[in-house]
Amino acid sequence: MPSFWLNGDIVAEQNAKLSVYDHGLLYGDGVFEGIRFYNSNAFRLDEHLARLYDSAAAICLNIPYSTDALVEAVCAIIADYTEADGYLRLVVTRGEGPLGLDPTLCSRANVFIIADKLAMVKDVVLQQGASLVIASTRRLPCDGLDPRIKTLNYLNHIMARMEATHANADEAVLLNLQGNVAEGTADNLFIVKNDALLTPPVSDGALAGITRALIIAQANTLGISCVEKTLAPFDLYTADECFLTGTAAELIPVRAIDQRPVAYCPGPVYAQLRGAFLEQVQEETKC
Ligand code: PMP
Repeated sequence: MPSFWLNGDIVAEQNAKLSVYDHGLLYGDGVFEGIRFYNSNAFRLDEHLARLYDSAAAICLNIPYSTDALVEAVCAIIADYTEADGYLRLVVTRGEGPLGLDPTLCSRANVFIIADKLAMVKDVVLQQGASLVIASTRRLPCDGLDPRIKTLNYLNHIMARMEATHANADEAVLLNLQGNVAEGTADNLFIVKNDALLTPPVSDGALAGITRALIIAQANTLGISCVEKTLAPFDLYTADECFLTGTAAELIPVRAIDQRPVAYCPGPVYAQLRGAFLEQVQEETKC
């Protein structure tokens, strides 16, 4: 059973409601985080809350709770949730206001958290690898909407995701306006080529993923050379390995990109990093 926290309280689902005048709904005006918890402990909560406040600051949105108050809210909803492992969606909307874009007319931000299950792909995809398509829908340019802001505007990612569904694939890759790889629709992308681990830099349109940062750090610890590098579709088509990372995704191996099979899936570098990731999760979330 999912749990809900809304503006200070744990509430029943029928009371977890916002107004149709909320600008989060009317204009996608708001920010959010997806956070996993394992063993009743939120994973990398500090990093998620730091990114939430940065996203809010970038769009001039005042979060009416301190970090400590949000930590308390997260603990309360995890305690209320029926299972020890799950996914949290923490959303801050601009709040209620009159029709029209002006955010200064909105009274107070609304903050809510949902605790629920989330599996990005089926178990069989996790074992056999995901198939990707490169979407024709491009990642919004940095000067349109900075990819570091985790906003409620996911429509171009949704359009890319639809392209994957229409092509019977598991996930889509978004390119930036220059035609280089940015990221997946809700995940970051890594490839392995000639023993080096490569991932697009944030400046190419990738969200500064918290899982991505962890994988880069773990690669360094394991002595795997990891470089943030601009990648073209060609680099994906000729990769030795490819995998996706994200809070929802965790680590997903990729078996094909635009029908080109990836050489190794799951590959040895993926397997090593997945093992290190799971160990880190255990280490950080033990009671
Ligand atoms: N890119 C996008 C567009 C995302 O929505 C997500 C999920 N938050 C990611 C990448 C992965 O980021 P993280 O590892 O912080 O979940």
